[in-house]
Amino acid sequence: MIETDIIIIGAGPVGLFTVFEAGLLKLRCHLIDGLPQPGGQCAEIYPKKPIYDIPGIPEILAGDLVDDLMKQIAPFKPGFTLGDPAIEIQETENNHYIVTTKSGIKHKARNIAIAGGLGVFVPRKPPVPDLKKYEGKGVEYMIKDPEIYRGKNIVISGGGDSALDWAHFLADGVANQVTLIHRSQSFRAHPDSVQKAMNMASEGKLKLLLDAEVKAINGNDHLSEIKIKSKTEGEITVTADNWLPLFGLTPKLGPIANWGLKIEKNAIQVDNATDYSTNREGIYAIGDVNTYPGKLKLILCGFHEATIMVQSAFKRIYPDKKNVLKYTTVNGVNGFD
Ligand SMILES: Cc1cc2nc3c(=O)[nH]c(=O)nc-3n(C[C@H](O)[C@H](O)[C@H](O)COP(=O)(O)OP(=O)(O)OC[C@H]3O[C@@H](n4cnc5c(N)ncnc54)[C@H](O)[C@@H]3O)c2cc1C
Repeated sequence: MIETDIIIIGAGPVGLFTVFEAGLLKLRCHLIDGLPQPGGQCAEIYPKKPIYDIPGIPEILAGDLVDDLMKQIAPFKPGFTLGDPAIEIQETENNHYIVTTKSGIKHKARNIAIAGGLGVFVPRKPPVPDLKKYEGKGVEYMIKDPEIYRGKNIVISGGGDSALDWAHFLADGVANQVTLIHRSQSFRAHPDSVQKAMNMASEGKLKLLLDAEVKAINGNDHLSEIKIKSKTEGEITVTADNWLPLFGLTPKLGPIANWGLKIEKNAIQVDNATDYSTNREGIYAIGDVNTYPGKLKLILCGFHEATIMVQSAFKRIYPDKKNVLKYTTVNGVNGFD
Protein backbone atom coordinates (compact mmCIF):
# COMPACT_ATOMS: atom_id res chain seq x y z
CA MET A 1 0.00 0.00 0.00
CA ILE A 2 1.37 3.42 -1.02
CA GLU A 3 0.50 6.07 1.60
CA THR A 4 0.63 9.81 1.04
CA ASP A 5 -1.19 13.08 1.85
CA ILE A 6 -2.78 13.70 -1.56
CA ILE A 7 -3.37 11.12 -4.28
CA ILE A 8 -3.45 12.96 -7.60
CA ILE A 9 -5.30 11.10 -10.34
CA GLY A 10 -3.91 12.46 -13.60
CA ALA A 11 -0.32 13.61 -14.20
CA GLY A 12 -1.17 16.30 -16.76
CA PRO A 13 0.13 19.86 -16.25
CA VAL A 14 -2.46 20.55 -13.53
CA GLY A 15 -1.74 17.33 -11.59
CA LEU A 16 1.99 18.07 -11.79
CA PHE A 17 1.67 21.66 -10.54
CA THR A 18 -0.48 20.43 -7.62
CA VAL A 19 2.65 18.68 -6.29
CA PHE A 20 4.45 22.04 -6.15
CA GLU A 21 1.69 23.91 -4.33
CA ALA A 22 1.14 20.98 -1.93
CA GLY A 23 4.90 20.75 -1.35
CA LEU A 24 5.02 24.38 -0.20
CA LEU A 25 2.60 23.29 2.57
CA LYS A 26 4.77 20.22 3.30
CA LEU A 27 2.11 17.87 1.93
CA ARG A 28 3.36 14.83 0.04
CA CYS A 29 1.76 13.69 -3.22
CA HIS A 30 1.56 10.54 -5.32
CA LEU A 31 0.45 10.79 -8.97
CA ILE A 32 -1.39 8.08 -10.90
CA ASP A 33 -1.77 8.18 -14.67
CA GLY A 34 -3.06 5.73 -17.26
CA LEU A 35 -0.41 6.96 -19.71
CA PRO A 36 3.18 5.73 -19.43
CA GLN A 37 4.56 9.29 -19.27
CA PRO A 38 3.56 12.45 -17.37
CA GLY A 39 2.22 15.55 -19.15
CA GLY A 40 -1.39 14.70 -20.10
CA GLN A 41 -2.62 16.39 -23.29
CA CYS A 42 0.59 18.47 -23.57
CA ALA A 43 2.72 15.33 -23.85
CA GLU A 44 0.27 13.06 -25.63
CA ILE A 45 -1.52 15.33 -28.10
CA TYR A 46 0.65 18.37 -28.85
CA PRO A 47 4.21 18.19 -27.42
CA LYS A 48 5.68 20.24 -30.29
CA LYS A 49 3.02 22.97 -30.34
CA PRO A 50 3.95 26.32 -28.78
CA ILE A 51 1.86 27.68 -25.90
CA TYR A 52 1.65 31.47 -25.50
CA ASP A 53 -0.59 31.95 -22.46
CA ILE A 54 1.49 30.77 -19.50
CA PRO A 55 2.10 33.92 -17.42
CA GLY A 56 5.68 35.13 -17.61
CA ILE A 57 6.64 32.72 -20.40
CA PRO A 58 6.08 34.37 -23.82
CA GLU A 59 6.38 31.09 -25.74
CA ILE A 60 7.07 27.48 -24.78
CA LEU A 61 6.58 24.11 -26.48
CA ALA A 62 4.01 21.99 -24.62
CA GLY A 63 6.57 19.19 -24.16
CA ASP A 64 9.08 21.66 -22.70
CA LEU A 65 6.45 22.97 -20.27
CA VAL A 66 6.01 19.40 -19.00
CA ASP A 67 9.81 19.00 -18.62
CA ASP A 68 9.96 22.29 -16.67
CA LEU A 69 7.06 21.28 -14.42
CA MET A 70 8.87 18.01 -13.67
CA LYS A 71 11.97 20.05 -12.69
CA GLN A 72 9.87 22.40 -10.58
CA ILE A 73 8.31 19.56 -8.55
CA ALA A 74 11.47 17.45 -8.22
CA PRO A 75 12.40 18.91 -4.77
CA PHE A 76 9.10 17.57 -3.42
CA LYS A 77 9.90 14.00 -4.47
CA PRO A 78 6.44 12.95 -5.71
CA GLY A 79 5.66 9.28 -6.25
CA PHE A 80 4.39 8.04 -9.61
CA THR A 81 2.25 5.10 -10.70
CA LEU A 82 2.27 5.41 -14.51
CA GLY A 83 0.76 3.39 -17.35
CA ASP A 84 -1.89 2.17 -14.93
CA PRO A 85 -5.29 3.93 -14.70
CA ALA A 86 -7.08 4.43 -11.38
CA ILE A 87 -10.26 2.39 -11.55
CA GLU A 88 -11.73 2.34 -8.03
CA ILE A 89 -12.04 4.62 -4.99
CA GLN A 90 -13.02 3.15 -1.61
CA GLU A 91 -13.64 5.13 1.57
CA THR A 92 -12.19 3.69 4.80
CA GLU A 93 -13.71 4.01 8.28
CA ASN A 94 -11.23 6.68 9.43
CA ASN A 95 -11.93 9.16 6.65
CA HIS A 96 -9.21 7.99 4.29
CA TYR A 97 -9.54 6.88 0.70
CA ILE A 98 -7.97 3.93 -1.09
CA VAL A 99 -7.45 4.28 -4.82
CA THR A 100 -6.84 1.06 -6.74
CA THR A 101 -5.34 0.94 -10.23
CA LYS A 102 -6.09 -1.50 -13.04
CA SER A 103 -3.02 -3.57 -12.15
CA GLY A 104 -4.16 -3.73 -8.49
CA ILE A 105 -1.78 -1.21 -6.86
CA LYS A 106 -3.42 0.41 -3.81
CA HIS A 107 -2.82 4.00 -2.71
CA LYS A 108 -4.09 5.48 0.57
CA ALA A 109 -4.57 9.14 1.49
CA ARG A 110 -6.82 11.58 3.28
CA ASN A 111 -7.37 13.60 0.12
CA ILE A 112 -7.81 12.88 -3.56
CA ALA A 113 -7.30 15.45 -6.30
CA ILE A 114 -8.82 14.29 -9.56
CA ALA A 115 -6.88 16.04 -12.33
CA GLY A 116 -8.07 13.63 -14.98
CA GLY A 117 -8.45 16.12 -17.84
CA LEU A 118 -10.57 14.70 -20.62
CA GLY A 119 -10.29 11.22 -19.08
CA VAL A 120 -8.33 8.06 -19.78
CA PHE A 121 -6.68 7.89 -23.20
CA VAL A 122 -8.01 4.85 -25.06
CA PRO A 123 -6.13 3.53 -28.13
CA ARG A 124 -7.73 3.56 -31.57
CA LYS A 125 -7.64 -0.11 -32.55
CA PRO A 126 -7.30 -1.42 -36.11
CA PRO A 127 -10.02 -3.77 -37.45
CA VAL A 128 -7.87 -6.92 -37.57
CA PRO A 129 -9.24 -10.38 -36.65
CA ASP A 130 -7.97 -11.95 -33.38
CA LEU A 131 -6.57 -8.63 -32.15
CA LYS A 132 -7.81 -9.19 -28.59
CA LYS A 133 -6.19 -12.65 -28.44
CA TYR A 134 -2.72 -11.10 -28.89
CA GLU A 135 -3.15 -7.94 -26.76
CA GLY A 136 -0.36 -8.08 -24.17
CA LYS A 137 1.06 -11.07 -26.08
CA GLY A 138 2.87 -9.15 -28.76
CA VAL A 139 0.32 -6.45 -29.57
CA GLU A 140 0.80 -3.19 -27.64
CA TYR A 141 -0.77 0.24 -28.21
CA MET A 142 1.52 2.19 -25.86
CA ILE A 143 5.23 1.79 -25.24
CA LYS A 144 5.91 1.68 -21.52
CA ASP A 145 9.45 0.30 -21.57
CA PRO A 146 11.30 0.27 -24.92
CA GLU A 147 13.92 -2.11 -23.46
CA ILE A 148 11.51 -5.04 -23.87
CA TYR A 149 11.93 -4.65 -27.65
CA ARG A 150 15.72 -5.03 -27.57
CA GLY A 151 16.88 -7.56 -30.18
CA LYS A 152 13.30 -8.23 -31.34
CA ASN A 153 11.58 -7.99 -34.73
CA ILE A 154 9.10 -5.14 -34.47
CA VAL A 155 6.32 -4.01 -36.79
CA ILE A 156 4.90 -0.50 -36.23
CA SER A 157 1.74 0.78 -37.97
CA GLY A 158 0.81 4.45 -38.21
CA GLY A 159 1.73 7.72 -39.88
CA GLY A 160 1.69 10.17 -36.97
CA ASP A 161 4.46 11.50 -34.74
CA SER A 162 4.19 8.71 -32.22
CA ALA A 163 4.60 5.95 -34.85
CA LEU A 164 7.58 7.69 -36.47
CA ASP A 165 9.30 8.70 -33.22
CA TRP A 166 9.17 5.13 -31.94
CA ALA A 167 10.26 3.73 -35.33
CA HIS A 168 13.37 5.97 -35.25
CA PHE A 169 14.16 5.11 -31.66
CA LEU A 170 13.73 1.34 -31.93
CA ALA A 171 15.50 1.13 -35.32
CA ASP A 172 18.51 2.94 -33.91
CA GLY A 173 20.25 -0.02 -32.27
CA VAL A 174 17.44 -1.25 -30.00
CA ALA A 175 15.38 -3.74 -32.03
CA ASN A 176 16.80 -6.35 -34.41
CA GLN A 177 14.52 -5.19 -37.21
CA VAL A 178 11.84 -2.50 -37.47
CA THR A 179 9.20 -2.44 -40.20
CA LEU A 180 7.05 0.71 -40.43
CA ILE A 181 3.75 0.24 -42.23
CA HIS A 182 1.60 3.16 -43.32
CA ARG A 183 -1.60 2.96 -45.35
CA SER A 184 -0.83 6.02 -47.53
CA GLN A 185 2.13 7.81 -49.16
CA SER A 186 1.74 10.96 -47.05
CA PHE A 187 2.30 11.24 -43.31
CA ARG A 188 0.64 13.29 -40.56
CA ALA A 189 3.94 13.43 -38.67
CA HIS A 190 6.30 16.42 -38.65
CA PRO A 191 8.18 16.74 -42.00
CA ASP A 192 11.61 16.44 -40.24
CA SER A 193 10.48 13.20 -38.71
CA VAL A 194 9.27 11.85 -42.08
CA GLN A 195 12.60 12.80 -43.68
CA LYS A 196 14.47 11.00 -40.90
CA ALA A 197 12.43 7.83 -41.55
CA MET A 198 13.17 8.07 -45.29
CA ASN A 199 16.88 8.46 -44.57
CA MET A 200 16.90 5.49 -42.19
CA ALA A 201 15.06 3.42 -44.82
CA SER A 202 17.63 4.28 -47.51
CA GLU A 203 20.45 3.41 -45.07
CA GLY A 204 18.78 0.01 -44.54
CA LYS A 205 18.10 0.64 -40.82
CA LEU A 206 14.31 0.71 -41.22
CA LYS A 207 11.98 -1.20 -43.52
CA LEU A 208 9.30 1.15 -44.83
CA LEU A 209 6.08 -0.21 -46.39
CA LEU A 210 3.82 2.55 -47.73
CA ASP A 211 0.32 2.08 -49.18
CA ALA A 212 0.13 -1.04 -47.03
CA GLU A 213 -2.01 -2.34 -44.16
CA VAL A 214 -1.88 -5.24 -41.71
CA LYS A 215 -4.64 -7.68 -42.57
CA ALA A 216 -4.02 -10.62 -40.21
CA ILE A 217 -1.90 -11.61 -37.21
CA ASN A 218 -0.93 -15.16 -36.25
CA GLY A 219 0.96 -17.08 -33.60
CA ASN A 220 0.47 -19.68 -30.89
CA ASP A 221 0.54 -18.27 -27.35
CA HIS A 222 2.33 -15.17 -28.60
CA LEU A 223 2.29 -13.18 -31.83
CA SER A 224 4.83 -14.48 -34.35
CA GLU A 225 3.66 -13.53 -37.85
CA ILE A 226 1.97 -10.60 -39.58
CA LYS A 227 0.25 -10.62 -42.96
CA ILE A 228 0.34 -7.32 -44.83
CA LYS A 229 -1.52 -6.22 -47.95
CA SER A 230 0.51 -3.78 -50.03
CA LYS A 231 -0.90 -1.92 -53.05
CA THR A 232 2.41 -2.32 -54.90
CA GLU A 233 3.81 -5.63 -53.58
CA GLY A 234 0.64 -7.66 -52.97
CA GLU A 235 0.52 -9.94 -49.91
CA ILE A 236 3.61 -9.98 -47.69
CA THR A 237 4.22 -12.08 -44.56
CA VAL A 238 6.75 -10.89 -41.98
CA THR A 239 7.89 -12.58 -38.79
CA ALA A 240 7.31 -10.32 -35.82
CA ASP A 241 7.71 -10.56 -32.05
CA ASN A 242 5.66 -7.41 -31.53
CA TRP A 243 3.17 -5.31 -33.43
CA LEU A 244 2.68 -1.73 -32.30
CA PRO A 245 -0.43 -0.22 -33.96
CA LEU A 246 0.10 3.48 -33.07
CA PHE A 247 -3.02 5.10 -34.51
CA GLY A 248 -3.45 7.61 -31.70
CA LEU A 249 -5.36 7.73 -28.44
CA THR A 250 -8.79 9.23 -27.75
CA PRO A 251 -9.80 10.39 -24.26
CA LYS A 252 -12.85 8.91 -22.49
CA LEU A 253 -14.02 9.92 -18.99
CA GLY A 254 -13.88 6.20 -18.16
CA PRO A 255 -13.74 5.04 -14.52
CA ILE A 256 -14.14 8.59 -13.13
CA ALA A 257 -17.85 8.40 -14.07
CA ASN A 258 -18.34 5.51 -11.59
CA TRP A 259 -17.01 7.17 -8.43
CA GLY A 260 -20.29 8.61 -7.13
CA LEU A 261 -19.44 12.14 -8.21
CA LYS A 262 -21.90 14.61 -9.73
CA ILE A 263 -21.21 14.64 -13.46
CA GLU A 264 -22.43 17.30 -15.88
CA LYS A 265 -21.58 17.16 -19.59
CA ASN A 266 -18.72 14.69 -19.07
CA ALA A 267 -17.09 16.77 -16.31
CA ILE A 268 -17.19 16.74 -12.49
CA GLN A 269 -19.25 19.45 -10.79
CA VAL A 270 -17.22 21.34 -8.18
CA ASP A 271 -17.71 24.20 -5.76
CA ASN A 272 -15.68 26.99 -7.33
CA ALA A 273 -16.71 29.51 -4.67
CA THR A 274 -14.59 27.67 -2.08
CA ASP A 275 -12.07 24.95 -2.86
CA TYR A 276 -12.99 22.93 -6.00
CA SER A 277 -14.43 20.18 -3.82
CA THR A 278 -16.81 17.63 -5.28
CA ASN A 279 -19.93 16.22 -3.63
CA ARG A 280 -17.67 13.71 -1.78
CA GLU A 281 -15.72 15.27 1.10
CA GLY A 282 -11.98 15.05 0.60
CA ILE A 283 -12.30 14.49 -3.14
CA TYR A 284 -11.47 17.52 -5.26
CA ALA A 285 -11.53 17.94 -9.05
CA ILE A 286 -9.21 20.41 -10.79
CA GLY A 287 -8.20 21.27 -14.34
CA ASP A 288 -10.07 20.22 -17.47
CA VAL A 289 -11.97 17.47 -15.64
CA ASN A 290 -14.15 19.86 -13.62
CA THR A 291 -17.03 22.16 -14.43
CA TYR A 292 -18.58 25.23 -12.80
CA PRO A 293 -20.20 28.42 -14.10
CA GLY A 294 -17.69 30.25 -16.28
CA LYS A 295 -15.20 27.35 -16.43
CA LEU A 296 -12.36 27.73 -18.96
CA LYS A 297 -10.34 24.68 -20.02
CA LEU A 298 -6.94 26.36 -19.86
CA ILE A 299 -3.72 25.35 -18.15
CA LEU A 300 -3.44 28.55 -16.12
CA CYS A 301 -7.00 28.13 -14.78
CA GLY A 302 -6.08 24.60 -13.64
CA PHE A 303 -2.94 25.95 -11.91
CA HIS A 304 -5.11 28.41 -9.98
CA GLU A 305 -7.58 25.68 -9.00
CA ALA A 306 -4.74 23.45 -7.75
CA THR A 307 -3.36 26.29 -5.60
CA ILE A 308 -6.71 26.91 -3.88
CA MET A 309 -7.47 23.20 -3.53
CA VAL A 310 -4.30 22.25 -1.62
CA GLN A 311 -5.11 24.85 1.06
CA SER A 312 -8.36 22.99 1.74
CA ALA A 313 -6.59 19.60 1.71
CA PHE A 314 -4.12 20.98 4.31
CA LYS A 315 -6.99 21.96 6.64
CA ARG A 316 -8.48 18.45 6.38
CA ILE A 317 -5.19 16.89 7.43
CA TYR A 318 -4.27 19.47 10.09
CA PRO A 319 -7.59 20.97 11.32
CA ASP A 320 -5.86 22.64 14.30
CA LYS A 321 -2.78 23.97 12.51
CA LYS A 322 -2.78 27.50 11.17
CA ASN A 323 -1.35 27.83 7.69
CA VAL A 324 -0.02 31.31 7.01
CA LEU A 325 0.50 32.00 3.31
CA LYS A 326 4.16 32.82 2.63
CA TYR A 327 5.65 33.87 -0.67
CA THR A 328 8.30 31.54 -2.13
CA THR A 329 10.51 34.63 -2.52
CA VAL A 330 10.58 34.87 1.29
CA ASN A 331 10.91 31.19 2.14
CA GLY A 332 12.62 29.72 -0.92
CA VAL A 333 11.51 26.31 -2.11
CA ASN A 334 12.41 23.76 0.51
CA GLY A 335 11.59 20.27 -0.67
CA PHE A 336 11.61 17.03 1.29
CA ASP A 337 14.95 15.45 2.25
C1 LIG B 1 -4.33 20.88 -29.44
C2 LIG B 1 -4.50 21.54 -28.10
C3 LIG B 1 -3.92 22.77 -27.88
C4 LIG B 1 -4.06 23.40 -26.64
N1 LIG B 1 -3.45 24.62 -26.44
C5 LIG B 1 -3.54 25.21 -25.22
C6 LIG B 1 -2.89 26.46 -24.98
O1 LIG B 1 -2.26 27.02 -25.85
N2 LIG B 1 -3.01 26.99 -23.72
C7 LIG B 1 -3.73 26.39 -22.71
O2 LIG B 1 -3.78 26.90 -21.59
N3 LIG B 1 -4.37 25.22 -22.94
C8 LIG B 1 -4.29 24.62 -24.16
N4 LIG B 1 -4.94 23.43 -24.39
C9 LIG B 1 -5.73 22.86 -23.28
C10 LIG B 1 -4.80 22.22 -22.26
O3 LIG B 1 -4.00 21.22 -22.87
C11 LIG B 1 -5.60 21.63 -21.11
O4 LIG B 1 -6.30 22.67 -20.49
C12 LIG B 1 -4.68 20.96 -20.10
O5 LIG B 1 -3.98 19.88 -20.67
C13 LIG B 1 -5.48 20.46 -18.90
O6 LIG B 1 -4.59 19.87 -18.03
P1 LIG B 1 -5.07 18.74 -17.01
O7 LIG B 1 -3.86 18.40 -16.22
O8 LIG B 1 -6.30 19.21 -16.32
O9 LIG B 1 -5.56 17.53 -17.91
P2 LIG B 1 -4.80 16.60 -19.08
O10 LIG B 1 -3.71 17.37 -19.65
O11 LIG B 1 -5.93 16.17 -19.91
O12 LIG B 1 -4.23 15.42 -18.20
C14 LIG B 1 -5.11 14.52 -17.57
C15 LIG B 1 -4.40 13.23 -17.30
O13 LIG B 1 -5.26 12.41 -16.50
C16 LIG B 1 -5.09 11.07 -16.89
N5 LIG B 1 -6.27 10.30 -16.42
C17 LIG B 1 -7.56 10.48 -16.71
N6 LIG B 1 -8.33 9.58 -16.08
C18 LIG B 1 -7.48 8.81 -15.36
C19 LIG B 1 -7.64 7.69 -14.50
N7 LIG B 1 -8.84 7.16 -14.23
N8 LIG B 1 -6.53 7.13 -13.95
C20 LIG B 1 -5.29 7.64 -14.20
N9 LIG B 1 -5.08 8.68 -15.03
C21 LIG B 1 -6.16 9.26 -15.58
C22 LIG B 1 -4.94 11.14 -18.39
O14 LIG B 1 -4.25 9.99 -18.88
C23 LIG B 1 -4.09 12.41 -18.55
O15 LIG B 1 -2.72 12.16 -18.62
C24 LIG B 1 -4.83 22.79 -25.60
C25 LIG B 1 -5.41 21.54 -25.85
C26 LIG B 1 -5.27 20.92 -27.08
C27 LIG B 1 -5.89 19.57 -27.29
